[in-house]
Amino acid sequence: MITTHNLGFPRIGAKRELKFAQEAFWKGELSAEDLNLTAADLRHRNWHLQSPLTFAPVGDFSLYDQVLDMSFTLGHLPARARDTQGTELDRYFRVARGRSANDTACCAIHAGEMTKWFDTNYHYIVPEFERGSRFQLNPERLLTQLAEARAQGVNSKPVIIGPVTYLWLGKSKDDSDRLALLEDLLPVYAELLNLLAEQGVEWVQIDEPALVTELDSPWRHAYNLAYHQLKACPVKLLLTTYFGELRENLQLACELPVAGLHLDAISAPGEVGRVTDWLPAHKILSLGVINGRNVWKTDLPATLDWLEPVHQRLGDRLWLAPSCSLLHVPVDLTSETEMDAELRSWLAFAVQKLDELQTLADALQLGRAAVADVLAQNAHAIASRRQSPRVHNPAVTHAVAAISPDLGTRRSAYTQRLQAQKSHLNLPAYPTTTIGSFPQTREIRQARLQYRKGGLSETQYTTRIREEIARCVREQEALGLDVLVHGEAERNDMVEYFGEQLDGYVFSRFGWVQSYGSRCVKPPILFGDIRRPKAMTVAWTEYAQSLTDKPMKGMLTGPVTILNWSFVRDDQPRKDTCLQLALAIRDEVLDLERAGVRIIQIDEAALREGLPLRQSDWQSYLNWAIEAFRISANGVSDETQIHTHMCYSEFNDIIEAIARMDADVITIETSRSDMELLDAFKGFQYPNDIGPGVYDIHSPNIPDKRHIVSLMEKAAQRIPAERLWVNPDCGLKTRNWEEVIPALREMVDAARSLRAN
Ligand code: GLN
Ligand code: ZN
Repeated sequence: MITTHNLGFPRIGAKRELKFAQEAFWKGELSAEDLNLTAADLRHRNWHLQSPLTFAPVGDFSLYDQVLDMSFTLGHLPARARDTQGTELDRYFRVARGRSANDTACCAIHAGEMTKWFDTNYHYIVPEFERGSRFQLNPERLLTQLAEARAQGVNSKPVIIGPVTYLWLGKSKDDSDRLALLEDLLPVYAELLNLLAEQGVEWVQIDEPALVTELDSPWRHAYNLAYHQLKACPVKLLLTTYFGELRENLQLACELPVAGLHLDAISAPGEVGRVTDWLPAHKILSLGVINGRNVWKTDLPATLDWLEPVHQRLGDRLWLAPSCSLLHVPVDLTSETEMDAELRSWLAFAVQKLDELQTLADALQLGRAAVADVLAQNAHAIASRRQSPRVHNPAVTHAVAAISPDLGTRRSAYTQRLQAQKSHLNLPAYPTTTIGSFPQTREIRQARLQYRKGGLSETQYTTRIREEIARCVREQEALGLDVLVHGEAERNDMVEYFGEQLDGYVFSRFGWVQSYGSRCVKPPILFGDIRRPKAMTVAWTEYAQSLTDKPMKGMLTGPVTILNWSFVRDDQPRKDTCLQLALAIRDEVLDLERAGVRIIQIDEAALREGLPLRQSDWQSYLNWAIEAFRISANGVSDETQIHTHMCYSEFNDIIEAIARMDADVITIETSRSDMELLDAFKGFQYPNDIGPGVYDIHSPNIPDKRHIVSLMEKAAQRIPAERLWVNPDCGLKTRNWEEVIPALREMVDAARSLRAN
């Protein structure tokens, strides 16, 4: 018998049911009971979809975030949330997003910091540790879901985050060593595992993806300590790693006293053999053989070619699974009835990936002949994609081959450009600006939808968007902002908008993937060579500029971010795809400049996300990523000011690479981590202008002018004041106008006080 299982299933629902329920709950329009009913219904459906598997995951579902869930399971919430009123659900959402439903200012707290989940575009709430952090088991959520799964006849495998990775994911708030907490943490894990055993659970999936990162010896030691202590618990542990190679941790992972190991055979194909050799004979080996991170069909015959010998060696000790949780792919391809049939035939979403898994298991168990039809169909799809002229455009290949080093180099150095820009931009000290988007109201979204469905003519739609642009300009002028934006009303998404206008992209209707909390993204699918048939943003920006004398920023998404937030081809190196994108964006930048736009922002929100998990692999990624940005940005004249924006505060370790981008101004997120980014400037003088985000746009809370002033004063201690900009930490599209106006007013007021001093 081949055991099949899944590491996690997307929880948002094929129609984003969870998102709508969460948001209605936060607005006070849905009761907690109804939110829980929606959640239970989604779990029920997800388990049903996974019913062919030997084991289905339980506890992978979350009302906001699986790491936050683990924090609550361990009774470990920040002190500021612990004593607030209301239910546990209220406290949960306060940690997640600053406030729960119907919270008045009294209960609002500052939200937990959010950061990227390994190298994915999923964001988790960072556990906050301090000396004396306490843990106390709170198993309700897991037990409830287990009972539900049981009632549905699901063969359940609870999923938890392992103790070492849990500590690894968190942050110490007082500089204490968070590993020192392991000793207090382990008894709570033991209690949980014992409880699960009492419930008749056989296997527990214990996620330890930190094992694919570079660990120093205290962390490696922690693994030994933890799993030797937990081995007394009467459940079988499936030590689960994903997203990368184990490398120097391979032996450690193989030898820890657990009942099984899951290896991501997609990102670590070269380690399958070594793990098979090393793994003690009493352990099972679960191989992640279906890519849980992209949307392409698996080449099933090719997979079987290497998998069959492994199966011969391991027999029943071989388990099959996707490489990682399917959280990172859309739910179901069958919803995509409008997609081009040929392109669709190349794809697989979560549901289809589970089918592929089943086919592989059947082929191993019964022989390929038993699934010959499915394999033949699969081979046909794989071949059609490989040979398709829709994928390959020789002109694009030539353009990339012709890239020369001067393409990415500005004419003059920053100091010289600065003079040229100053003399015609005329900006005050501490110039204020925003990151690009303004609230995406229901009306705007409806207008875009109607236009797409043919309910609005081109002219009507243009009028609608122009009205919205005019409103944005009016509001920004009234607020007294210095550098304006058009507001991005025409964009559903900062990547999809560009993808839609580039050749080489295809779109899903329902291909949503959770980014954080209720936020979902619909990554476009980059299947072929990239070409820009015509200008993508010039008309809107020109119109916006025509309404004001203040400088209007042109707003583009950079090549690295487009790459990192798309599902991209797996048939050529990411670098090649990125350079194709860079050439397309470069053409847009030059068109904007020609249209008289004097400031152009090229967002590289996701540059950091593409960083390989191991630092030793960073340099080669940064080299081509920075080159791609430079190619897109640096064709302009000295007078044109290039901005870039990044959505994170961990900046220190790549600041030299970021400086090499040579953007005139960079705006970055930092407010949630209290200007932590400034640490980067201790050892490195960032040479150009910088706008450290002064308030958190992810939270509905209105910032306070004095707080902004104090943050900027902190910044001015590290960065010369004349190079500082004042801006929120990201775009405002997820907020509403009632929040945005007062927040920006505080910000502009703060800039005025700073100037006065
Ligand atoms: N310009 C984009 C916006 O404001 C940037 C978004 C982002 O950084 N994620 O929406
Ligand atoms: Zn951002």
